[in-house]
Amino acid sequence: MAAMAAPENTPVWVNTDRCKACDICVDACPAGVLSMQAAPGSTLGAMITIIAPDSCIGCNECELLCPDFAIYVSERKEFKFAKLTDSSKARQEAIANNGYRIPVDYKEAN
Ligand code: SF4
Ligand code: SF4
Repeated sequence: MAAMAAPENTPVWVNTDRCKACDICVDACPAGVLSMQAAPGSTLGAMITIIAPDSCIGCNECELLCPDFAIYVSERKEFKFAKLTDSSKARQEAIANNGYRIPVDYKEAN
């Protein structure tokens, strides 16, 4: 199956036409890169969004686990990914603890 063309200088991107807002990728991401956001017009009322692209470590978990082939990760040779940090892990924990949505008042620890 052909993936979407890779946007330039982007670690991770989504084909929102395919996403069914199942939360699997948000749950799997170790770095708090992904979150659901309200999308009243969509079938499920929510849509995946990439909230912290600069924190993506390129682990590929989201792409591997997505049942709908809706999320893609750049090749390592094409993008310099971040390292996993405490603030990324804390953001991920906050998202997971808030029903896979970043808390509206969330503040980065550093
Ligand atoms: S795993 Fe795939 S279908 Fe599910 S929320 Fe993520 S991008 Fe959407
Ligand atoms: S590649 Fe890894 S760190 Fe980047 S968004 Fe996907 S699961 Fe998160």
